[in-house]
Amino acid sequence: MKKVIILGSTGSIGTQTLEVIEKLQDYKVYALSCGRNIELIKKQIEKFSPKFVCLQNSDDAKNLSEIYSNVKFSSGEKGLLELIDNEYDILVVATSGIVSVKTVIKAIENKKTIALANKETLVMAGDIVMKKAKEYQTPIIPIDSEHSAILQCLNKPNNPYVKRLWITASGGPFLYNTREEMEKFSAKDALNHPKWNMGKKITVDCATLVNKGLEVIEAHHLYNFNYDDIKVVIHPESLVHSFVEFQDGSFLAQMGVPSMHIPIQYALTYPERKKGIKTNSFCPWGKKLNFFEPDFKKFPLLKLTIECGKQGGLMPAILNAANEIAVYKFLEGKINFLDIEKIVFKEIENAKNIINPTIEEIFEKDKKIRLKLSQL
Ligand code: MG
Repeated sequence: MKKVIILGSTGSIGTQTLEVIEKLQDYKVYALSCGRNIELIKKQIEKFSPKFVCLQNSDDAKNLSEIYSNVKFSSGEKGLLELIDNEYDILVVATSGIVSVKTVIKAIENKKTIALANKETLVMAGDIVMKKAKEYQTPIIPIDSEHSAILQCLNKPNNPYVKRLWITASGGPFLYNTREEMEKFSAKDALNHPKWNMGKKITVDCATLVNKGLEVIEAHHLYNFNYDDIKVVIHPESLVHSFVEFQDGSFLAQMGVPSMHIPIQYALTYPERKKGIKTNSFCPWGKKLNFFEPDFKKFPLLKLTIECGKQGGLMPAILNAANEIAVYKFLEGKINFLDIEKIVFKEIENAKNIINPTIEEIFEKDKKIRLKLSQL
């Protein structure tokens, strides 16, 4: 029986991970963590009987410990670090934000297999995290459809016969709109993603294509590829989840209906495929599949994000923080869609980079930018 901890169990990836575990034999929920969705965590506790639960808020932890006496409750960042210090097999990191970075580093030192859905970890601190993972020989398995697709095609990391990675992008809801039209779009328009059903922040990142740039940075760290050998290709049908191009000219692709259940399941069962959850049957016959180059002029944040990845140091963290604050302002209706890129570009233009920053320097920079931009 494999024991699984899910951090962020009430979010989109967290709930889908529980759906996968329900269908997989030999996998059991060991511990859960969540923010403030108390009604949902209560249901999850009753259904999956975890041994440990960590909540964001200490009052919530106290209240729930009076209801569920068999469960050990903890709270906050300290509780989270305690939680992962247990005996288990796989840590699913489905939380957002930088607290996950610290958790991942601790789990690496504990030599636990990490199924990683959190983007900040590799975007902000990819060099540090991957170096540590190598040192401790801790596997980091991505839960992201594109990186999972690449892993499924590579079959093993560091395959020397791979020439390039091709990351597919749906192009988001504004793929066929002009910049003039994009200027007028509201949060509601941006949240209307044509293919994937995800959290709000990532859905807006799909509309600006920042998400794809962040995925290029992640792929660079996960698979140790130069940025020039990681390409983005627009594929509006979202049926091919990425390609691996080999030295002999062959391309391997992983295909399927857009569903996060498969990358989650593959991360839990890697390197095997197991009988578990099943998506709708997918057959590409008769379907027209399109692939074309992204329009970097229309989506300048895609280029900027990749550029920040190339520069390395603090730049990806600066971009990530500025983008996140700008996206939340847009979701709150305080700025319009194209203001997101204005805010991010301005921050990057004024940024001072440090090469090989420490984790503390990265966190400090992140905090500074968030504070400054949220006051605007
Ligand atoms: Mg993705």
